[in-house]
Amino acid sequence: MTELIHKLEREHSLEVEEYRYLLENRNDNAAHLLAEKAVKARVQYYGHDVYVRGLVEFTNFCRNNCYYCGIRAGNKNAERYRLTEDEILTCCDLGYGIGYRTFVLQGGEDPIYTPKRIESLVHRIKEKYPDCAVTLSVGEHPKDVYRSWFSAGADRYLLRHETADAEHYARLHPDDLTLDKRKRCLYDLKDIGYQVGCGFMVGSPWQTAEHLAKDLKFIEEFRPHMVGIGPFIPHKDTPFKGMAAGTLEETLFLLSIVRLMLPEVLLPATTALGSIKENGRELGVLSGANVCMPNLSPKDVRSKYLLYNNKLSSGAEAAEDFELLKARMKNIGYDVVVARGDSKIKNN
Ligand code: SAM
Repeated sequence: MTELIHKLEREHSLEVEEYRYLLENRNDNAAHLLAEKAVKARVQYYGHDVYVRGLVEFTNFCRNNCYYCGIRAGNKNAERYRLTEDEILTCCDLGYGIGYRTFVLQGGEDPIYTPKRIESLVHRIKEKYPDCAVTLSVGEHPKDVYRSWFSAGADRYLLRHETADAEHYARLHPDDLTLDKRKRCLYDLKDIGYQVGCGFMVGSPWQTAEHLAKDLKFIEEFRPHMVGIGPFIPHKDTPFKGMAAGTLEETLFLLSIVRLMLPEVLLPATTALGSIKENGRELGVLSGANVCMPNLSPKDVRSKYLLYNNKLSSGAEAAEDFELLKARMKNIGYDVVVARGDSKIKNN
């Protein structure tokens, strides 16, 4: 184990079988050593700075039916909402005043939010806040659509690959969604020039150490600028309602591995991590993460963007409690900074 961890630190790469071995033999000692090395690597590139992103969950309408997701089209119990462009701008105004310099616009694949509307929204935000980065996370689209948003000023795009194993992908999604299509989108986004984020859920149904090893190899080879890793949490109105959630320990272990693999990556301590453990995000930062994404959406819609049950939507998650997040980070020796927080990975 120790030798493999040293190899990962030295070479930023392991064989798929070696990643698998690490995951299958995870123990507390290995987790401590990995976290220690991950923090060292992160400090080398980003010091003790924690970047914050203002998350605006602007629509929970979605044409897709991903089996794990609470806002899937087939969930008739979901209370649907869609923010107007003006409401989204108001969220950005609020966020800018607080200190956010990145806005993440996330939503389902909502046909009413056409590519043109999203393009004009990006234009408006960038016109008003030229010193801010805009991140989009609105699913799979044709390359020319991604290009139009990039030309309008979008800087980054988050699209998790969800699992790098095609058969596993097919068990998590209906037939119209495939791993090939997902990867095509990720390569298109990178080719256009976005800072791109991929990622996966930890402990998704039927996930094995072999699947995770393939995820890690895919990430190593794709070299994304950002990696979103959070525990799977079942939602009561999805086909996966009875399934077990992913664990805190395995998520932290994977965060550390990814940090050592890509020392310059932007790595969020995700909302899902903070949802399964009260101090989950602090533990994420202490395992190598360097980004938090508090919610900027209006309070009345937050409870409706339910991807899973018990989603964190109060406390430090509220924009108004930005100061609390700052204090919590300060408490573990980290500084929430007012900065765009771009990735130090160059596009390749
Ligand atoms: N529609 C866009 C997309 O698919 O990329 C953005 C929104 S989607 C809800 C964002 C992410 O939420 C997904 O990539 C997925 O990994 C995560 N997610 C969905 N359901 C989840 C669950 N039950 N537990 C944890 N994460 C979940």
